[in-house]
Amino acid sequence: MRFVYFFGGGKAEGDGGMKELLGGKGAGLAEMTRIGLPVPAGFTISTECCDYYLKHDHKYPKSLRAEVTKNLARLERVTHKKLGDAKDPLLVSVRSGSARSMPGMMETILNLGLNQRSVEALARNTKNDRFAWDAYRRFVQMYSSVVIGLPKEELEEKLRAMKTRRGVKDDTQVPADGWKELVGEYKSYFKNKTGKSFPEDPEEQLWGAIGAVFESWMAEKAVTYRRVERITGLLGTAVNVVQMVFGNTGDNSGTGVCFTRDPSTGDKNFYGDFLINAQGEDVVAGIRTPMHLNEMSKRMPSVYKQLERARKLLENHYRDMQDMEFTVEDGTLYMLQTRVGKRAPAATFKMAVDMAREGLISKNEAIERIKSEDIERLFYPVIDSTVPRADLVKRKLATGINAVPGAAVGKAVFTAADAEAWAQKGEKVILVRRETSPEDVGGMFVAQGIVTATGGKTSHAAVVARGWGKCCVVGCEQLDIDYLTKTARANGHVVREGDWITLDGNDGAVYEGQEKLVSPEFPDSFFTLMTWADQVRRLRVRTNADTPHDAAKAREMGAEGIGLCRTEHMFFKDFEQPEKSVERQLAIQEMIVADSPEARRKALAKLLPFQRRDFVGIFKAMDGCPVTIRLIDPPLHEFVPHDPEKQAELARKIGVATEVVARRVEQLREANPMLGHRGCRLAITYPEILEMQVQAIVEAAIECQKQGIKVLPEIMHPLTLDRKELQILADATHRVASEIISKSGVKLEYLVGTMIELPRAALLADQIAEVAEFFSFGTNDLTQTVMGLSRDDAGRFLPDYVDEKKAGIFSADPFQTLDQAGVGMLMRWAIERGRSTRPKLKVGICGEHGGDAESVKFCHAVAMDYVSASPFRVPIARLAAAQAVIEDAAAAKKKKGKRR
Ligand code: PEP
Ligand code: MG
Repeated sequence: MRFVYFFGGGKAEGDGGMKELLGGKGAGLAEMTRIGLPVPAGFTISTECCDYYLKHDHKYPKSLRAEVTKNLARLERVTHKKLGDAKDPLLVSVRSGSARSMPGMMETILNLGLNQRSVEALARNTKNDRFAWDAYRRFVQMYSSVVIGLPKEELEEKLRAMKTRRGVKDDTQVPADGWKELVGEYKSYFKNKTGKSFPEDPEEQLWGAIGAVFESWMAEKAVTYRRVERITGLLGTAVNVVQMVFGNTGDNSGTGVCFTRDPSTGDKNFYGDFLINAQGEDVVAGIRTPMHLNEMSKRMPSVYKQLERARKLLENHYRDMQDMEFTVEDGTLYMLQTRVGKRAPAATFKMAVDMAREGLISKNEAIERIKSEDIERLFYPVIDSTVPRADLVKRKLATGINAVPGAAVGKAVFTAADAEAWAQKGEKVILVRRETSPEDVGGMFVAQGIVTATGGKTSHAAVVARGWGKCCVVGCEQLDIDYLTKTARANGHVVREGDWITLDGNDGAVYEGQEKLVSPEFPDSFFTLMTWADQVRRLRVRTNADTPHDAAKAREMGAEGIGLCRTEHMFFKDFEQPEKSVERQLAIQEMIVADSPEARRKALAKLLPFQRRDFVGIFKAMDGCPVTIRLIDPPLHEFVPHDPEKQAELARKIGVATEVVARRVEQLREANPMLGHRGCRLAITYPEILEMQVQAIVEAAIECQKQGIKVLPEIMHPLTLDRKELQILADATHRVASEIISKSGVKLEYLVGTMIELPRAALLADQIAEVAEFFSFGTNDLTQTVMGLSRDDAGRFLPDYVDEKKAGIFSADPFQTLDQAGVGMLMRWAIERGRSTRPKLKVGICGEHGGDAESVKFCHAVAMDYVSASPFRVPIARLAAAQAVIEDAAAAKKKKGKRR
């Protein structure tokens, strides 16, 4: 087996496609050599060798020594220098580099090959004593800390002390003698600590450095980084042994970092920083202010020309924006690294669109380059990146689950009512709750952000907040919330009502204080790219929206209809006339405590005009697109007050005895409400509710139709489990609807269908489809019921199921990304069976998964008609639906190629 790959003299044994084996850096160096760019010669020891080393008790494979010796000799031939030579020594850097970039996580050693003899030669040859001894002390310092593990701080301390003794402030002011003196000090320190002399033999130095780079793969910080970034499946790091080139030999030298396009704007400008007379780490350390490339172009015009050539060559070659490191040694340019550059959210879109227009990539490639996160990041405000990270860490209160990204700042309030009252006064608030319920919807709506101590990503708070694109952190178990004193305690801090707090929904963090937020802008290129995606996709994309405002927002995001309108949210909040919210709440509560159908009908009659007005607003906003309206779903106990004071207040307002209210609330209590009296079961027991809701829908539709607005209502019954059950509901729906339609004299088309949220409904889908004109998979409940995992409580232990270091049972949270193996199997079955009895059955999804890219691709694969997502996730669904088509085509092409 071969472990070493050489590059130099215009040839390379590796290439750019060998990232897994040679790491990003090694593959880049090989590729740049191949395409004729000036790259210092060297060799790469593969990641397979690292894997072997770590698996075999930190021993190298037997053949490695001979391979390294052979390649070192080759390097000496190509460079016409010898490692450790007393006349013209070869110096090398030994650098880590894995297939995925892990900035600063692993080790590098520079100037290897220097010793007491070769340093003199370097000084002589460069006629620069100071430079040579500075290089030597850097090497001794790095080697001592990285290879031997001597404390960095003590070495730094010796450097500081030497500078103080000599009365100088900057490293650049230290004379050759100073560096010489420091090398002596480092060496005695080394001897003291290790009992051995600092290695003079360059080969011994080299093997020490190779081992240290391999070891750094398993260093605590590298392991943590991989866990956080979810980097898995890599063999290890490669080791790159490369001829040293120096940017610090004088004013005709320097070092820099550049991007083929501006990484923050996406503009096609050559962007970069350059430091004259400096080594690579000086740029990263940010001690000196670098000059921009245009200034460099004036100072070193011929080098700049070469760099421009490298820029064009590399971007055309890799067909993407490159992030490059380079060094200029005495007027000669050397490319040290190239990789695909990270970019700001807006720049991601601009570059993809520009590159497609320039013909560098195809439109389909541009679509494929965008990830869900790129879209999400466009929408939400973020904590200003100039806020020092260290300060943030000090102010951290707790970490929870990042339910909705973005950031929010506001004063802490602990009840929904307070949130509304404070907001009314013009205050910005963050709603802090143990958990939220539909009753809190008003307070949630006015809050800047929401944080809860319990719950997972599909808990009520998360689902509602996501619909509004509102920053939300859930499951902050460390938050000890006391409603009585209106305080939250965590991590030694106490937050009282009115104290400023900041939420970071990207990291799921909660901070004390008021951080500065900035909101990113939508670039034109985003809209262009979305149009391209729309031209490719087959799946339709709808939205989950409960209000005219949300519906309008979703249209802007490109929604082609509403896939789920949760009508119960309208019972609590009048989004257009907030002062009428109380009236609605009273009406629904009166309906619930009513003890006869007549009393219920009376209360429902009060609700009717409100619902009708909401539906008119939604139909208008959707302007001819289909609108799926789901009838009441949550258990009734969620709508009534539970504490005696509020019960008494309600009793007074609706004119009944307090005991009546208390008794009714008690009657509604259930041990397991999620599997209890909810969904269409409510309409089976209380047909009056169904009648009122259908009446409101149909009357609203007729009103719109009369005004010339086309409407396509789809009336949806939730949580059905049986054909007969749905038949009863469908019959009732048709009875109410046809009566109103025939009286109106208007022609109105509508559909009646059901959600598929229970395994039984999915299993018996052929029977259900005999009645249902459409299916909409409610995958929040379907996941809950198929897996037997409570969607509100699973957040407490599901992270263990996903964490690779713990159980690693699922690769993702099944409430966010569809469990294709289990829940998906049942969905495939239901679609197939449903279409066996009703071939034209319309099928969609309206659970949270409708806005998750992976799940959308699954929906495409099982031939659904549409997906429905929260307004802010509509573009994610549009993009994923297009990517699904492109991936299909690529897979078909591959298959065809194989068959040939
Ligand atoms: C579902 O269960 O997937 C669904 C959309 O309904 P809800 O989240 O309102 O229960
Ligand atoms: Mg449901």
